[in-house]
Amino acid sequence: MNTTELLQFDRDHLWHPYTSTIDPLPVYPVAKAEGVTITLADGTELIDGMSSWWAAVHGYNHPVLNAAAKAQLEKMSHIMFGGFTHEPAVELGAKLLPLLPPSMDKIFYADSGSVAVEVAMKMAIQYWQSQGKTEKHRFATIRSGYHGDTWHAMSVCDPVTGMHGLFAGSLPVQYFLPQPAVKFAEPWQEEAIRPLEDLLKQEGDKIAALILEPIVQGAGGMYFYSPTYLVRARALCEQYQVLLIFDEIATGFGRTGKLFAWEHAGVEPDIMCIGKALTGGYLTLSATITTQPIADTICGGEAGCFMHGPTFMGNPLACAIASASVSLLLESDWQANVRRIEQQLKAELAPAAALPSVAEVRVLGAIGVLEMREPVNMARLQKRFVQEGIWVRPFGKLVYLMPPFIIRPDQLTKLTSGLLRVLSD
Ligand SMILES: *Cc1c(COP(=O)(O)O)cnc(C)c1O
Repeated sequence: MNTTELLQFDRDHLWHPYTSTIDPLPVYPVAKAEGVTITLADGTELIDGMSSWWAAVHGYNHPVLNAAAKAQLEKMSHIMFGGFTHEPAVELGAKLLPLLPPSMDKIFYADSGSVAVEVAMKMAIQYWQSQGKTEKHRFATIRSGYHGDTWHAMSVCDPVTGMHGLFAGSLPVQYFLPQPAVKFAEPWQEEAIRPLEDLLKQEGDKIAALILEPIVQGAGGMYFYSPTYLVRARALCEQYQVLLIFDEIATGFGRTGKLFAWEHAGVEPDIMCIGKALTGGYLTLSATITTQPIADTICGGEAGCFMHGPTFMGNPLACAIASASVSLLLESDWQANVRRIEQQLKAELAPAAALPSVAEVRVLGAIGVLEMREPVNMARLQKRFVQEGIWVRPFGKLVYLMPPFIIRPDQLTKLTSGLLRVLSD
C-alpha cells in the first residue's frame, strides 16, 4: 500500500480517539520514531512534545527496552496468569514495591489505565461488602478529573471536560466536589476543603472511596493543586471511613518532579493506580496496588477472593519491558532532567502569557500548559505544528507539552518556539 492508499483505508475504516467517522480529523502517517524524533512517511521529522500521552518517558526505539522485549520474546510473549507465574511479573513487582508508598503491598496487574481504575473501584466496593456495608458503593471525586474511558472510570470523570457528559443518564451517579481552589504553589486556605468535609459528613456512609489524581489533573483540565488538599483529604477519609484512591496513571514515574505525585504531600492512599509510563510507552500495562489489610479484608469476605482476572493479566512481554523501563529510569538522572525541563519550560513559555489568546501559563515538572481563552481549532493548529516540525496535540482550551525526559535543550527550544510561533499567528 502506498501512503495515499493507506490514508484512504484509514479514513474509510479505522476509528481514531474521539474522532468522527463522517468527518475525521486529518491523521499523519508515521514511518518510525527514535529518541524524541517522529518521522512521517514523507520524511518530515517532528520533535515529540507529547510522549505519546505521558507514556514514552525514555523516547522511542530505546536500545535497552528493545533488548528487553527481544529477550522476553525468545522465551514467551504471553502465558495465562491463572495458575502460572513468571520472572517478569515477579521481578517487576519487586522493583515497584520499594518505589511506592510504604503501605502498598499487593499488586494487581491489569491491561490499561482504565481497567486499573475499574479494578480499584471494584476493590473499594468489595472491601466494604466484605464488612457487610453494602450501602457504601458510591464514589466521590473532584471536578475536572480524568480517570479513563470505561464505564465506572467514566462515571468519575468530569461530566463536562471529561468528555463523558453524553452518557450522564446511563452512568452511575457519583458525588462531584469543586476542583481544589488552591493552586499548587499558593498558600493553603482551609475553606478549600470544606466541600469535601461537608460531603463526607452527610453522605460518608454511602461512599466507598474518594478517587483523585494527586497534585496534577491530566486530561480533564491540566490543573495543578495544593498538596495540602491531599493531606486534609487523607485525614477526612480516615475520620469518615472512606477509602482514598490515588490515580497516578499520568503522574507516575517522575513526570511531576517526584517519582510519584503523592510524595509532594507525603500522604499515602489506600489504593493506587499506575500505568502509562510503566512500560516506557512500549505496551499497554497497568497495576492497581493496595495494602495488605485491605486485600485481606476483600478476600476474607463472602466471595473469598477478588473478583477480577483479565486474559492478558501480568503479560510477560509487557512486564519485562516495564521492568527494564523502571530500571532505566532509576539509573538515569531523571530528577535533574525533569528539573532542567521544568526550568526551560518556565523560561521559554513565559512570553506566551502576553498573548491575547492565552489565559494562563503553568509549568510543573516536565509538564507545560497553556490554557487558552477559547477552545482551539485542533485540525488547523495541528497542521501548523507539523509545519513547524513539532508534535503537539491540544484539546479544548488546553495546549500543552510533556516531552520525553531525554529531550535535549535545543530540541525543547524547538518545541517551545514552534508552539509560540503558531499561537502568535
Ligand atoms: C490516561 C489515564 C487513564 C486511562 O488510561 P488508559 O490506559 O487510557 O485506559 C486513567 N487515569 C488517568 C489519570 C489517566 O491519565
